Amino acid sequence: MRIFIFLAIAATLFASHVERFRWFNGETYLQFLEKHSLPLRRLYYNLDKDDQRLTEEIRAGVHCQMLRDDNNTIEQVLLPLNDELQIHIYQDDESYSFEAIPIISSTKNEVLYTQINSSPNYAILKATGSQKVAGVFVAAFKHSLNFKNDIRKGDELVMLYKQKYRLGRPFSMPTLDAAMIEMGKKKHFIYLNDDGRYYDERAHEVEGFLLARPVRGARISSYFTKRRWHPILHKWKAHLGVDYAARRGTPVVAAGSGRITYCARMGTYGNLIKIRHNDGYETRYAHLKSFRRGIYRGKYVKKGQTIAYVGSTGRSTGPHLHFELRKRGRAINPLRVVQVTTKKLKGKAKKAFLKLKANYDERINLHLQNKTPYKRATHFEDMCYIYLLDDPMEQKDGQDR
Ligand SMILES: [Zn+2]
Repeated sequence: MRIFIFLAIAATLFASHVERFRWFNGETYLQFLEKHSLPLRRLYYNLDKDDQRLTEEIRAGVHCQMLRDDNNTIEQVLLPLNDELQIHIYQDDESYSFEAIPIISSTKNEVLYTQINSSPNYAILKATGSQKVAGVFVAAFKHSLNFKNDIRKGDELVMLYKQKYRLGRPFSMPTLDAAMIEMGKKKHFIYLNDDGRYYDERAHEVEGFLLARPVRGARISSYFTKRRWHPILHKWKAHLGVDYAARRGTPVVAAGSGRITYCARMGTYGNLIKIRHNDGYETRYAHLKSFRRGIYRGKYVKKGQTIAYVGSTGRSTGPHLHFELRKRGRAINPLRVVQVTTKKLKGKAKKAFLKLKANYDERINLHLQNKTPYKRATHFEDMCYIYLLDDPMEQKDGQDR
């Protein structure tokens, strides 16, 4: 059974008005509540630990909304946490309540064709005005191609990608589906496969930032999700990492080389290690029983090196490793970049990929022929939406409580 509650708040429908603002760099959720005289106890101290942890996910610069009535009293506040979940603060019986709810967004398939005069980055930026779109393209080819030497003036590129829109504006990082770039008239391709990984035209996985599995031979007991409906607690939650169930004391290894930036206890995480890697990546290892001797903040560790041992410290139901990957603070699915042994698709998997590829190639060629001009999206709505949706979730052992 699915329940949809659709609440569209148009500024014109009520005698209320919507205020848009961006989250200040360095501002904490508690400071925000204080600034607006919102009740700290109801909106923070009375929340369970998971919801309290969510309030730490608000990122600087994110677009927020506030609905005020005639008397300038705050009626509702929406604070996005990622591209799928947001905090909703709303007035009820003279006071306020807190909930985490899904973000309504629409996803559009977009196309970019452009000629390159100097660099692909500059060409995409000039055509779209979006550093994010340019960044996604450059990152996809970064480890396989060298743009510096081999681009000739007049080379072409095509990218097919998905962009999310919220309130008529693009938001969150675009997802690259497929791309082609000519370098000295030779074409190079990249495709997003159904397994969430990128492959080239020979069905070889494109090596990017790759992580080792942090616990060897462990079973995954809980997957990454930016939002899920908890049927027992009856509310929306997020799990911003992957849980590996393993025996207490099992060694935990650094998933990538980098510098340890945190190595101590931290609230619900229990004993926690954070490692900073190249390109703005960070990994986190939580609920640890103990740290390995000689592991401390500031130390440089190598990929595969033992750093700690599996435990159940902090908020945890049993021994497991809670493993997170962040890029510039944003939680991303670590399984997308955890190394697997097969880097070349074979058999059935290859056949399915080639079918997918043929489909993308057809579209890429069409846009090359037509030199499809980039269409800038127009702002088409000016409302905030709130909705709830029932979604079952399995409860398993060895996860965060
Ligand atoms: Zn976890």
